[in-house]
Amino acid sequence: MKKQYVFLSHDVDWNFGGPSKDHILKRKDRFDEIVLKNTPINKLYRNFSEYMEIEEKYGVKSTFFFRTQYENGKYTDYEDDIKILKKGGWEIGLHTDPSSINDINKIGEEKRNIEKIIGSKIYGNRVHYLSNDKEFLKKLYELDFIYDSSFRKTKDSITSDEMGYQKINGIIEFPVTLMDAYLFTHMQISEDKIIETIDKTLKYCRQLNLEFNIISILWHDNVLKMKGGRMYGKILEFLSSQEDIEMVNGIQLASKIIKTNN
Ligand SMILES: [Zn+2]
Repeated sequence: MKKQYVFLSHDVDWNFGGPSKDHILKRKDRFDEIVLKNTPINKLYRNFSEYMEIEEKYGVKSTFFFRTQYENGKYTDYEDDIKILKKGGWEIGLHTDPSSINDINKIGEEKRNIEKIIGSKIYGNRVHYLSNDKEFLKKLYELDFIYDSSFRKTKDSITSDEMGYQKINGIIEFPVTLMDAYLFTHMQISEDKIIETIDKTLKYCRQLNLEFNIISILWHDNVLKMKGGRMYGKILEFLSSQEDIEMVNGIQLASKIIKTNN
């Protein structure tokens, strides 16, 4: 049976305390009343321990992409969380700021800032708001990154362009197949149809019979307590019920590809 790889990752888009109370209350129908009532407001958007617990249950340790430039806070506020994740075996990657991608010095500085916290090198990148820029990958290669996961052609469809991987300018590119925000907004998929959608995507991927059959799932750190986002546990439960699936993080998957090609 040919293996299907599922690359799991989380972008940490918000600063440590999350958005303002005002911002949250304006969008309070995103949450169940009980969740709003029982969660401190600055913890509504932060879910590291919850993700760790879910993923450990299914034997996977995903990738967390951290920014180094947050609108209303410092990335160093995440220092303890980053260290806990790293020590637990999760992968830490860079969530590059869009204002850095044309300047190799800025990208390098962002990379080193995260590396200083974890005390070792990082190999994976994703651009905040994504990017299809091949020149950018050249810069990543020069900075010793191994892979990137920022490509996506459209916001409202799931096609073979968003599966598998490509080697571009020395970098392994894993396009984003499924993302919480696109599923629930641009694709208008309701919570009760999410497993069906993932099942369909997998069936499509299996038929492609690529060298590596891969789908990547981006689930933002901040959505786990929200309607829609709270389906993450169910998604992993479904994936782990599929015999041919192996859930991996980015560097695990890149290593398999490098090993096969050598
Ligand atoms: Zn982002």
